[in-house]
Amino acid sequence: MTDAPSPIQISQVVLGEEVEQLVLDVLRSGRLAQGPMVERLEAGFCDIAGTSHAIAVNSGTTALVAAIEALGIGPGDEVITSPFTFVATLNAILEAGATVRFVDIGSDFCIRPDLIEAEINDRTRAIMPVHLYGLAADMNPILDIASDANLAIIEDAAQSHGATYGDRPVGNFGIGCFSLYATKNLTTGEGGIVTTNDDAIADRLRVLRNQGMRARYEYVLAGHNWRLTELQAAIGIPQLATLAAATEARSANAAALTAGLDDIDGFMLPCPHEGRGHVWHQYTVRVGPNASIRRDELAAHLTAAGIGNGVYYPRVVFDYDCYRNHPQVTAAEVPEAFATAEQVLSLPVHPGLDSADIDRIITAVRRAFA
Ligand SMILES: *Cc1c(COP(=O)(O)O)cnc(C)c1O
Repeated sequence: MTDAPSPIQISQVVLGEEVEQLVLDVLRSGRLAQGPMVERLEAGFCDIAGTSHAIAVNSGTTALVAAIEALGIGPGDEVITSPFTFVATLNAILEAGATVRFVDIGSDFCIRPDLIEAEINDRTRAIMPVHLYGLAADMNPILDIASDANLAIIEDAAQSHGATYGDRPVGNFGIGCFSLYATKNLTTGEGGIVTTNDDAIADRLRVLRNQGMRARYEYVLAGHNWRLTELQAAIGIPQLATLAAATEARSANAAALTAGLDDIDGFMLPCPHEGRGHVWHQYTVRVGPNASIRRDELAAHLTAAGIGNGVYYPRVVFDYDCYRNHPQVTAAEVPEAFATAEQVLSLPVHPGLDSADIDRIITAVRRAFA
């Protein structure tokens, strides 16, 4: 009898020898807090987002809070965002003291630009599109709406390092907020990056990050400790050079999954969006009402077959008592987000998969529907 093949994980962290060496260099240097490694990581991120500034902070959530605060948005102000996202998007707006308003999503899982205008009022200050699963939100109409209504754009690009819309990378359309959490496409364990082309915003972010201090003991703002460590930066730096290849591997895996799964009734695969470069943080399918099994049955079948999978996200982000009763949360009619939360399932697509893994995933999905 042969052993059962080992389970395929939904995400996998693979760090090479260069990471080990650079982390060792930091340990031996004696300099652990924000310094030259953080600067190197920031310089590399300017290239990824195509921006003139990148400011490293201690998490993606902090990046979002920092962007909101750097814009001077706070209590009494409103931010419009997607109801179908990780909870950090919502928590960041609440932490900054602002009120959140939700606009339903489209078939790209991102905010629907044509529904945004109806939610704008005198208190609205920013639109926060989420580039979900590695796909950019539909930015052109969002840019038009923001410029007509004089609103800032804060991009939640936590899942979309290197994704593009037209010829521009995400993080380049307003203030970009990236996460470097363990499961993201580029990781430092915990960490975040804010990107901007605005010199004044960049300056404010750097000052806010370091206790509001411009020069030693010269405090110009009530600030924070949002700093990243040298150790974390050292984990991230070698990945700057390998991100493009890792994204290509994700892309090839996504194409192989699509080729193997595109003929199952009621089973909807992620469809290509013209002009948007997907970076496949997740490969997310929908099990529609006409499929022969429900989403949760497919998930259970895959888990039993040793295929990692995940529901991102099982509920609309404000659909919890702690948010429904929250004074800064405006509940909304978002039927597409509710339907999507019941139907989505993400399959492994990470660069650590080989073609045998892809075949196992395809076979297991097909068996579940057979
Ligand atoms: C991961 C994530 C965040 C938060 O990033 P952290 O680094 O975990 O704080 C924010 N928004 C989205 C959409 C995310 O996926």
